Amino acid sequence: MKALAKLKAEPGIWQTEVDKPEVGPNDVLIRIKKTAICGTDVHIYKWDDWAKATIPHGMVVGHEYVGVIEGMGSEVKGFTVGDRVSGEGHITCGHCRNCRAGRVHLCRNTFGVGVNRAGAFAEYLVIPAYNAFKIADNIPDNIAAIFDPFGNAVHTALSFDLVGEDVLITGAGPIGIMAAAVARHVGARHVVITDVNPYRLELALKMGATRAVDVSKQDLKQIMKELGMTEGFDVGLEMSGVPAAFNSMLDTINHGGKIAMLGIPPSDMAVDWNKVIFKGLVIKGIYGREMFETWYKMASLIQSGLDLTPMITHVMPVDQFQQGFDIMCSGQSGKVILDWS
Ligand code: NAD
Ligand code: ZN
Repeated sequence: MKALAKLKAEPGIWQTEVDKPEVGPNDVLIRIKKTAICGTDVHIYKWDDWAKATIPHGMVVGHEYVGVIEGMGSEVKGFTVGDRVSGEGHITCGHCRNCRAGRVHLCRNTFGVGVNRAGAFAEYLVIPAYNAFKIADNIPDNIAAIFDPFGNAVHTALSFDLVGEDVLITGAGPIGIMAAAVARHVGARHVVITDVNPYRLELALKMGATRAVDVSKQDLKQIMKELGMTEGFDVGLEMSGVPAAFNSMLDTINHGGKIAMLGIPPSDMAVDWNKVIFKGLVIKGIYGREMFETWYKMASLIQSGLDLTPMITHVMPVDQFQQGFDIMCSGQSGKVILDWS
């Protein structure tokens, strides 16, 4: 079957032919319809230090997708051939303390689809049926294909009560922008998002941010003054992984504020812990999506009118994958979808 794989230990991704994956007794076989390119795929494409240390040679990558179940193992229940599904990319062990307590997203033995094992940039993907998530008919393919990063946004944004709150989102990447959309949809008051990329700040405004701040040109505290915010943000969602952005959040959040951190800093970062202590802040780290509450919430948010369509800025046949990666690397895009049909 056709697939995109990391065939060489250098920047790039290559189209190749690989064997169709085998279906175990608890697995489903998914015929891939659409995939989306994740920031993680860009790290793998660029072959940075993290990718060098993590990605097995020759592996098929990709973990954002929608497809149709075409086969399943003898033990699978709850799915039928023909079901349209996306899937949770974190494959968990089922036997650690957190798994057995139902806190599956905190599994210490998590394995990533398209990171530690064969991924979704292929005509077929096999995953444990446990990880598959059925997509309702009223959710379009392009939206279902981005449920994985949408789930990061939903998990982070819904970590704290946002109703009537002033929310700061640092980082208007695809996930930060979707978090802004969620915050607005559930009733936050000011949703201020920061970045240094004008294209993405513009997209964030389209998606529901009430103010988009280019921190390379504008002063966040000045914007807060203009908005009549005299005390500070109630909730912070860190979605850039950039230390300066996190520090500006510590600076502008109110006493008693709550911060959910999704962005992954490149290395150790210096933090003024006095701000955390004297402001009495609550900081929560976020990894992945809650299984499967985040997935139910995603579907419900879409079905209650949250429109992610403007996030999908490029759709192209998979054979144009190089162009897709180039666009993602340029930063001049929302989500880029590759069509496998
Ligand atoms: P992205 O790289 O597309 O977005 C990050 C954005 O931050 C970019 O638009 C960049 O221009 C912006 N930025 C750079 N400097 C900034 C500054 N000083 N202030 C504000 N913004 C600035 O990434 P994404 O795919 O949207 O993901 C967001 C973050 O979440 C990344 O750090 C990613 O590694 C991380 N992530 C974490 C998880 C998890 O489970 N914890 C899952 C997926 C992604
Ligand atoms: Zn586990």
